[in-house]
Amino acid sequence: MIRVGLTGGIATGKSTVAVIFRKAGANVIDADKIARNVVQKGLPAWQKIVAHFGPRVLMPDGQINRASLADVVFNDPVQKRHLNAIVHPYVYRKIEELMQQLIKTETNGVVVLDVPLLYEVGMDKDLDKIITVYVPEAVQLDRLMKRDGLSEQSARVRIQSQMSIEEKRRRADIIIDNSGSLKATQAAAFEVYRILVALTAKF
Ligand code: ADP
Repeated sequence: MIRVGLTGGIATGKSTVAVIFRKAGANVIDADKIARNVVQKGLPAWQKIVAHFGPRVLMPDGQINRASLADVVFNDPVQKRHLNAIVHPYVYRKIEELMQQLIKTETNGVVVLDVPLLYEVGMDKDLDKIITVYVPEAVQLDRLMKRDGLSEQSARVRIQSQMSIEEKRRRADIIIDNSGSLKATQAAAFEVYRILVALTAKF
């Protein structure tokens, strides 16, 4: 089994490529989805978040209000670190659990870990190959504004809060350029998948 990290910047096309990899036959683990699941009401991460940040980050039904929490940590690195310190161990544990299950059943398979902040959290060290989904920053900005209905200023702030896409491109083992058509990206992703399948025997 080969363990592949899939990363990129916000709106460079990770989700788009993850869907293509799933279609091609890869097992895709979605770290964002796991991060949403581990903070469900009543779970240990939820309890720690409420204890630290207080009820201001809850919705009336008691679930975490992700927008409020994002507001609290956005401009406050100390609080952001604190939130990550609460949530990340639960996310890692779940990913590890899913990996262990797959190792038993998918000896010749490709497991893709879709982790937007893979480099930022240092997860690249634990994986066999890293793919960066790349578009130039101008395309990233344009797609982000359109997808999330953001002003140029807000979109820039979000992009600048992450490691730059050029740096992620430099660090990657494999780059999928998503600046062309969806059809071109699909062809590129299928080609990469074929290469990964061929590599599984080595890992
Ligand atoms: P990410 O998961 O990296 O945040 P998405 O996969 O959601 O990025 O893509 C960002 C936006 O760009 C989405 O609205 C998506 O539909 C669009 N998009 C992705 N790839 C392409 C492409 N090759 N051409 C045009 N639009 C694209």
